This record gives sequence, C-alpha cells and structure tokens, in this order.
Amino acid sequence: MLDKRKFYIDARWTDPVEAKNLEVINPSTEEAFAIISLGTDKDTDLAVDAAKRAFDGWSNTAPGERLAKVERLLEIYKRRAEEMARTISQEMGAPIDMALRSQVGAGAWHMTNFITAFRDFKFVRPLGDHAPDNRIVMDPIGVVGLITPWNWPMNQVTLKVTPALLAGCTLVLKPSEVAPLSSMLFAEFADEAGIPAGVFNLVNGDGPGVGTRLSAHPDIEMISFTGSTRAGKAISKVAAETLKRVALELGGKGANIIFEDADGDAVRRGAAHCFNNTGQSCNAPTRMLVQRSIYDDAVETAKSVAEALAIDVADKHGAHIGPLVSDTQYSRVQDLIGKGIEEGARLVAGGPGRPSGLNRGYFVRPTIFADVDNNMTIAREEVFGPVLSIIPFDTEEEAITIANDTPYGLSNYVQTQDGERRNRVARKLKSGMVEMNGVSRAAGAPFGGVKASGRAREGGVWGIEEFLEPKAVSGWSEESAISE
Ligand code: NAD
Repeated sequence: MLDKRKFYIDARWTDPVEAKNLEVINPSTEEAFAIISLGTDKDTDLAVDAAKRAFDGWSNTAPGERLAKVERLLEIYKRRAEEMARTISQEMGAPIDMALRSQVGAGAWHMTNFITAFRDFKFVRPLGDHAPDNRIVMDPIGVVGLITPWNWPMNQVTLKVTPALLAGCTLVLKPSEVAPLSSMLFAEFADEAGIPAGVFNLVNGDGPGVGTRLSAHPDIEMISFTGSTRAGKAISKVAAETLKRVALELGGKGANIIFEDADGDAVRRGAAHCFNNTGQSCNAPTRMLVQRSIYDDAVETAKSVAEALAIDVADKHGAHIGPLVSDTQYSRVQDLIGKGIEEGARLVAGGPGRPSGLNRGYFVRPTIFADVDNNMTIAREEVFGPVLSIIPFDTEEEAITIANDTPYGLSNYVQTQDGERRNRVARKLKSGMVEMNGVSRAAGAPFGGVKASGRAREGGVWGIEEFLEPKAVSGWSEESAISE
C-alpha cells in the first residue's frame, strides 16, 4: 500500500493538520493500493496563504523566466512519461497503451501549445492608432484555485496549471480524490523544475471539503473548474459570495451528424471515438445521428466496432477498453443501460452485466442502442461509459434540431462531403466546438462549451487570457523602459 498522506505546500511535502484518510482503489482489481489524506479548511488555508505570499515575487518575475521554468517542467514531464502513464492507468483504469499515448500525450501537447502561444504573448498592448497613449496591461488575476476531475487527469491539470504559471498566478490545485496520484506526481515534477516555493501547491480533498473552501476563500481570485455540471453550479453559488471569477468546463452530450454522403470511415471513426477512454470523456460523440438512407448499414458498422474492442485489465498491453473508474460509475452506467432497454431503445451490442471472463473490476460491455429517441434518458443524460445511442434523421434541419435539443453544448461533429452544408451546419450548432470529417482541433484552438457545458475556454492564447485581467491605462509614456 502506497502511503501518500501528504500535501505539497510551500515547496514541502507536509502532513495534514488532521488525519482524514481515503483509500485509492485500482478499478481493474477493486483493491485499494494507496492511501491519501483528505484536507480540511485548515490545510486549504495554509496552501492559500503560501500562494498569497508567493504572488508578488512570481507575478513580477520576467515572463521569459516563467517560461523557462515551464519548459523545464515539460522536459521532466516527458522524461517521466511512463511513470505518469502507469500511475494514471492504475488509479482511473485507462488501458496502459492509451494512457501513455493519449492521456499523458494530451498533457505534453497542451504544455507545448501554451509554450508556443506564450512566445509571442504581449502583456502590454496598444489600444489602436486613435489612442497612441493608451495601453491595455494584462495583469495576472492573483491566487487561483484549480479543481480537476479524474477522467483525463493530466489533460486537465496541464490545461490549468500551465497557463496559470505563465500568466504569473500562484495556485492551489485540488485534484479529484478518486485519481489524485497523477497530480501528486506532477507536483514532484514542479518541485524538480524549481518552481519557487508557494507558487504551486497541492491539497488533496473532496468537494464538500477542500473544493468548497477554495471556492469560498476570500484570498482566491478565481476558480478554474472542470467536472460535472452539478458541481459547477455548487461552486458558482459558493463563489458568488466573494465575486470571484469562475471558469467552468462541464459535461457534454455531443451529437455526431452523419449525412448520407459522409466518407466511408465516418461511422467507424465516430463509434471508436465514443468508446475511447471507456466512454469517459466530456466531448465524446455519444449521440450518433444518422441519415435514414444509410441508417441500417451504419448500425451494423457501429456494432462491428463495439464487438471488436479488446476489454481487459488496465495494465494489459493491447486492451482498448479498461474498467470504469469506480463502483459508483459502474452502478450508474448499468442503471442507464437498463433504462435504455426499459424505455424501448433497440439493443444492438453489449448490454447489462459484465464482459465474459472479467468477474472483478468495474467492467461494462461496450453497448450500442439503435432507434433511440432523443427524449430517452440515454440520449439526455451524460452516461460517462462506453454506450453509444444511434438516432435516425431525414433532413438537415431535423438533424440540427435534434443535435441542439440538449441542455449541453460542448462539442458536436459533422460528417459530409458537401462543403457548403458542413459550414452551414457548423454555424447552426450550439456548442463551443464543432469537429468535421475527422479533422481534430489544432494547437491553439480554444476548448470549452456553452449552455450547461460551462463558461470558459482553455488552450493556447485563450487559455492564458482566462488567468489575466485587462487593465486600461491612459497617458502611457513612450519613453518608459517597460516593454510591450
Ligand atoms: P465531479 O464534478 O464529481 O468532480 C470534479 C472535481 O470537483 C473533483 O475534484 C471533486 O472533488 C470536485 N468537486 C465535487 N463537488 C464539488 C463542490 N461542491 N465544490 C467544489 N469542488 C467539488 O466530476 P467527476 O466525476 O470527477 O468528472 C466527471 C465530470 O467531469 C463529467 O460530468 C464530465 O463531463 C466532466 N468533464 C468536463 C470536461 C470539460 O472540459 N468540459 C472535461 C472532463 C470532464
């Protein structure tokens, strides 16, 4: 059993003020393999105090020096990538190959993109030719609280920590209590990179404890949160008392609209994307909308994708699908599969129960429902498991109506060879992102949602600006040594 009952505060691994422990469970075996402490208000306050003390120094450090520290952090992250992949795989069940390639890979990609964006980043900007003595000065917002989920742990940690550091903020990170060890390893990297004391702090804890205290804390200027819509609302309410900025990246229920002239790989690609990370992705295309003329073929293709997936314990090379993260998620996904059947969707692949031969671990069967009505529970709720709902449509207008008929608005997908149609549909979809014909978002594009999917943009310049306050300054002297 790994003993991880420490927090990283002021560049030291410190003991919690009070002992309140939680076991970390390996979802492949259902066995505890590590123990952490859940912080209290007192631990949170110690971390916030350290971050507050460090703020002046760090925010006044030259941007180039901050960049050099972050570059060093990335070097260490890459060097210790395998250790990170094993940690993620063990704590949240991502198959080991996928953990290294995608989970750890995404973190490196985000850090690299921030570093690139920061090279041309300007903290002092002209307003325009009409006002030569005006400048917009971008100030770091202050001490920030970063609260992250378990599903893509390093993806989310790097999307928050990197821009916060580059912007000149100091921070307290509270990772998910379900998958905290990858973030503790990341804290070791920050320590090795020589991030100054108090700039990066980590306190483990749960939502009602550390999460709520950070959201309420008068010395925290901003919360950047990724997680469920439920927790996002709770944080917003608590944070309202101190009027702090709240950046929210929440759930999703993405539609993948496949028109009859889509490329031959569209259905396979869409199904595989839905099952990636065992269906535990906020931007997963979980509702596949298929034009009636190709509907039957599409259902057969999707079925063959589900049936070809290798399901196994997370440390087995070659597995595509691992266990779900926890007992709670296992029960929830099984319930939702049951609801799909009860409400009359046609079960095409998978279904209730466990995959054969896997009697331990939180494994579910990759499941496909066809003839789904958009009002069914499986089409409305975020399942967060390997479950694909296929919905037929006749016209473009109908497809757009179904796609937008959801409380969420994170990512949608469109497949058609008709360029006019692609651009028209993209404009009409209510979501923060639209990916078409399998072309992924490129480096520097903003990630985020609308409606119940949140209020924030992460990645590239957009992500750095989330941590800055624009200050309008007039009467700016051209002769000053302060550069733009
Ligand atoms: P969760 O909301 O239960 O927990 C996320 C984090 O918030 C954890 O650290 C948790 O301890 C903390 N938390 C919970 N309640 C809190 C409260 N009241 N106050 C403060 N903190 C609180 O979510 P989860 O189960 O860890 O993650 C899955 C959810 O995250 C899904 O809904 C998924 O769609 C969403 N998600 C969104 C994105 C995105 O970028 N939009 C990315 C990944 C995951």
